[in-house]
Amino acid sequence: MPSSPLPGLYIVATPIGNLGDVSTRAREVLLSADVIACEDTRVTGHLLHLIGIKRPLLRHDDHADDAARARLVERMADERVVLVCDAGTPLISDPGYRLVRDARAAGRMVTSIPGPCAAITGLTLAGLPTDRFLFAGFLPAKAKARDEAIAELAGIRASLVLYESGQRLGPCLAALAAGLGERDAAVARELTKLHEECVTGTLGTLAARYADDKPKGEIVIIVGPPAAVAPATHDDAAVDAALLNALTDAPPARAAKTVAASLGIPRERAYARALALTGKA
Ligand code: SAM
Repeated sequence: MPSSPLPGLYIVATPIGNLGDVSTRAREVLLSADVIACEDTRVTGHLLHLIGIKRPLLRHDDHADDAARARLVERMADERVVLVCDAGTPLISDPGYRLVRDARAAGRMVTSIPGPCAAITGLTLAGLPTDRFLFAGFLPAKAKARDEAIAELAGIRASLVLYESGQRLGPCLAALAAGLGERDAAVARELTKLHEECVTGTLGTLAARYADDKPKGEIVIIVGPPAAVAPATHDDAAVDAALLNALTDAPPARAAKTVAASLGIPRERAYARALALTGKA
């Protein structure tokens, strides 16, 4: 950080439970803020009190009217506006994207001070593939809308990361098990806090475990990707039928190539059968 930081918008991640996770840079930026835009002034005021910082607070969320947002963007011309949420990384299932959009459109300096995020913390704990993941936030609360959302997620070849409350954990896991099948999954709870835990199992076993249990605290559900679809197996009769059709207007090599591609079988196998069917084997 330069000693006199530039005016603009600073997006600052704050702890998701453990105060030790306030980074040095987050502290410096908070200290130098002209105003801290937050979801709830009591929640952020309490955090600042705990870490010994006192700066002006302003309530701001994505429902703020255009005029309120415009005033904040105007202030960024010569003031340091810091955006925080109640806990974790702003904009991740939290307000802020409209403010960032408008600040960018107005040509303001925008920077992000990374830090805690429950989705990433849960994902790293789960022991599930992390090379591709989809963060889906909170599923809808109503069963029908939730089932539709799960159906949309079913075909995605990636781990899924979801936020959920303890109250709704059981029904949510049951719906995930019904819609996604027996995938490996994890329930990560109270991350970075005293009672942090990460329970792993298949969706079915987790749904059974939490069927009558409404655990306290905050929860991230991580679901592993769908199993790779096994290559289609076709018996000789099916291959022969397709080849006989293809051989009506193509020589064995071309018919074999066509059938191999359409059935997803090795070309050599199709060619060997094509030769046998045409008496050239
Ligand atoms: N912006 C936040 C972030 O970066 O993680 C998330 C805000 S979202 C409104 C709150 C949800 O995040 C909670 O309902 C829970 O699903 C998840 N969450 C937040 N803190 C958590 C924690 N310490 N352990 C597990 N999940 C947490």
